[in-house]
Amino acid sequence: MNKNSSNVMAMAPSTSNKRETVCIFGTGDFGRALGHKLIQSGYPIVFGSRSTQAPSLIPRDAEVLSHAEAAQKATVIIIAIQRQHYNFLTQLAETLHGKVLVDISNNLKMNQYPESNAENLAQLVPGAKVVKAFNTVSAWALQSGTLDASRQVFVCGDNMQAKQMVMDIVRSLGLTPVDQGSLLAAREIENYPLQLFPMWKFPIFLSLGLTAFFFFYCLTYNVIYPYVHENQDFSFYIAITIANQICPTLALILLASVYLPGVLAAIIQLYRGTKYRRFPDWLDKWMLCRKQLGLIALAFASLHVLYTLVTPIRSFIKWRTSSQTISEALNNKTEPLNNTNAWLGDSYLALGILGFFLFVLLGITSLPSVSNSVNWREFRFVQSKLGYLSLILCTAHTLVYGGKWFLYPSSYRWYLPHAYMLSLIIPCIVLVVKFVLIFPCLDKPLTRIRQGWERNPQYSE
Ligand code: NAP
Repeated sequence: MNKNSSNVMAMAPSTSNKRETVCIFGTGDFGRALGHKLIQSGYPIVFGSRSTQAPSLIPRDAEVLSHAEAAQKATVIIIAIQRQHYNFLTQLAETLHGKVLVDISNNLKMNQYPESNAENLAQLVPGAKVVKAFNTVSAWALQSGTLDASRQVFVCGDNMQAKQMVMDIVRSLGLTPVDQGSLLAAREIENYPLQLFPMWKFPIFLSLGLTAFFFFYCLTYNVIYPYVHENQDFSFYIAITIANQICPTLALILLASVYLPGVLAAIIQLYRGTKYRRFPDWLDKWMLCRKQLGLIALAFASLHVLYTLVTPIRSFIKWRTSSQTISEALNNKTEPLNNTNAWLGDSYLALGILGFFLFVLLGITSLPSVSNSVNWREFRFVQSKLGYLSLILCTAHTLVYGGKWFLYPSSYRWYLPHAYMLSLIIPCIVLVVKFVLIFPCLDKPLTRIRQGWERNPQYSE
């Protein structure tokens, strides 16, 4: 009774500026790093350890006691011990009754145990208030202060007051607590550190697959075909010419694939007449990684710009220009300026420059620091309206450059069209379908569906 009431008192908001003592079980890497940081933030620290001989790496101002003695000195106890060693805590159940136990542990595999480590801790010490926190912060980052990428600390727990106490500690360390709800969320939080770029997998595999496909396609078209038919060696095309065909092709296809799932989702919603049915899993996943697809597309577009800028200094281009000039000089004949070609050339460059500018703008607005400073409407305006405008400009840039090849039979080698023609297929489909969806006969019902209207309501009023 006495013990419980002392814990309740300890949990009451403190009126003095003095910080409450925090206890850390375990003097390993994480325990020590967190101990250092807490001491820097003004918290008295006591370590609970199997050995009371303070190791040399322990912060000088910290006490090292047995687990039971240390636990009695604090209300918040951070368990910096691996889950497989938790069993000894059952013997301390009485001492830990009413205390706030912070589980920071991680696993080696996703969903390694049927229940989360934090839930396991709560089962071992049923009288304690278990809170999950700190597991996504690394000991190294805590100690070196390089916490830029991991400033967020995910916190969850069933007891609001205990969770609040832990979030206050997180805040005073200069970190940002993110309340994830009840202890049930611990399972998901424990999986976070094991995820390796989860949103990047599909975009990276897709772009690698497309790069390999277009590399062999362009190799066949530009190098193997001339070699077989004209015995000409254009193998040096691999370094820049082919790379500069793959990059714009992929940039355009990936940019279009950012907008393709939105168009497919609109068609599905129109067909079903409701927004209250789940999209197929593949479409859900595709929608979630649109930002990553867009960023990879931007990387390919930037490479295309660089490859294009070096064109005038390529020896092949210099040779071609000089031999043209010499042949004109020898024939004493100057080719007249072709106005149509000059227009086409300048328009194609202008469309490319404007398209790339908007593309970069889209990339910048997807940065968290920028997207956090605009409201939802502004973000949608940039990502949707400017995004489509960028897609239109980039598609027009490719059409002006390579569209004419559709008409020339000589541009089909072994019945294969030029890569630029292939790159136009998906963007043109997206733009045409989007254009059709703007018609009021489709746009109006789609807007109503997105506002909650259903063609065949499930629950009639
Ligand atoms: P560690 O360096 O191996 O330290 C673990 C500590 O646990 C030991 O120093 C020891 O402290 C105590 N311990 C070991 N065996 C024990 C046993 N049988 N009974 C009681 N106590 C025992 O591990 P760590 O890297 O600090 O990680 C500790 C926890 O933090 C783990 O659950 C880990 O998943 C989590 N975590 C670590 C990091 C990180 O970057 N290291 C990041 C996030 C989360 P005493 O000798 O003082 O008893």
